Amino acid sequence: MKKEENLIIKIIKLGANLDRLVPFSPIRGLSKFTFNLFSPKLKEACLNKEHTSSYQVGLDLYYMIYAMLNSALRVSWSINSLNIFLRAIFQNKDASRIKREWREKYGEGPPGFLVISPTKACNLKCYGCYANAAKERDKLPKEVFERIIREAINLWGVRFFVISGGEPLMYKDKGEDLLSILSKFPEAIFLFYTNGLLIDEERAKRMAEMGNVTPAISVEGFKETTDKRRGEGSFEKILEVMERLRKKKVLFGISLTATRYNCEEILSNEFIDFFFFKIKAAYGWLFHYMPIGRDADPSLMPTPKQRIWMWQRSWEIVKKKKIMIADFWNHGTTSHGCIAGGREGGYFHINWHGDCAPCVFFPYAVSNIIDIYNQGGNLNDVLFTPFFKAIREWQKGYGFLSGGKVSGDWLRPCPIRDHFLTAKKMIEEYGARPIDYAPEESLKNQEYIEKMANYDKELEALTTPIWENIYLNHHSKK
Ligand code: SF4
Repeated sequence: MKKEENLIIKIIKLGANLDRLVPFSPIRGLSKFTFNLFSPKLKEACLNKEHTSSYQVGLDLYYMIYAMLNSALRVSWSINSLNIFLRAIFQNKDASRIKREWREKYGEGPPGFLVISPTKACNLKCYGCYANAAKERDKLPKEVFERIIREAINLWGVRFFVISGGEPLMYKDKGEDLLSILSKFPEAIFLFYTNGLLIDEERAKRMAEMGNVTPAISVEGFKETTDKRRGEGSFEKILEVMERLRKKKVLFGISLTATRYNCEEILSNEFIDFFFFKIKAAYGWLFHYMPIGRDADPSLMPTPKQRIWMWQRSWEIVKKKKIMIADFWNHGTTSHGCIAGGREGGYFHINWHGDCAPCVFFPYAVSNIIDIYNQGGNLNDVLFTPFFKAIREWQKGYGFLSGGKVSGDWLRPCPIRDHFLTAKKMIEEYGARPIDYAPEESLKNQEYIEKMANYDKELEALTTPIWENIYLNHHSKK
């Protein structure tokens, strides 16, 4: 697939460069046209039997990559930034070498990215959010924050980091803020989740100059729904921030949390067309409410029926509107299942105290990176804890790294959400402790456990026929 990838990159670069020089030229159309000419090659590569034995799994990947590339052509972003992103994603020679060496040594590749939450502090006080209770000490020391990034680059060839929080733009330590730290790593790209309200002219200008950051701004729905959760006037302020970023050609996306009350709204045609075609967000991350933080309430989760509807609807948006909107649970087929626990190409999460959890949504840890550094270790020590290894073994048993052979139902890929009792068993067996905000009570609260387990059963009954009919029985289709 390397040859096709390189060609597509050249086409995108050419189209974007010419578009900048001749703003109203048909060249942008031409680059899309050329890209379309090569899309059959991309499809062929995604459907390669070595990659997957399921025709539909291959198709899902193809549609997602196609939508991603189309999204890159749909929005206007700076050439500087475009070049940095393409280099980090597609032309990372270190990563290929390191991956090969890791495979030879350990039988599996290293993680592909890392999520770091450097601070718990936030400028908002949204209902139910754990960040409300942040204290000054709830942050990573600057040296640790920088060392984590540098090590992931050197040890694993990582070039993509996700920064979460709290509100990442609240981060400050020893006179440096988030952007000044991220600007020290021009070879890497950083997506950060933010409420957006701290992106003033000065910060937007710095982001444009850096070119290696992209904010994913949280929206709960249209004005009424967003203001209800984030405070009166938030929606209008968010639109102003997006306008500011657009003018400075900073790539930005939106981050959506679906509950059973807003999922229809955030996947409606009006909402999608407004944010992706009018406001020009490049991409969207779609998370389902996960009852794991303070005031955890399983009844806020989209129901299993809504989840199936979201699966259908999100793919419709990806395929028909060619918008890159990634549903963290429902699109498990594109990643061959769960990506937690430092899986090959996957990630793990480090929070403001240095606690290392398999995933943002799986907030239980057996290691702490600050302790590991104090004892002379490094990030690899997190990867090889028995807890993380057990999670990776579970993923393998569920079909990952099975030489393309599809087995476990990737419409229910999540150990903590879709197989709650399995996750609970692993947490207890390896003595993982809840990190910070995850209430210890979750694991002891019988009512909570029953609700989660019942949800999983109901979901299984709905996804199994789809998985068997659409994904497993069509593997030989051409
Ligand atoms: S633990 Fe769940 S939410 Fe986290 S990566 Fe795995 S499937 Fe996704």
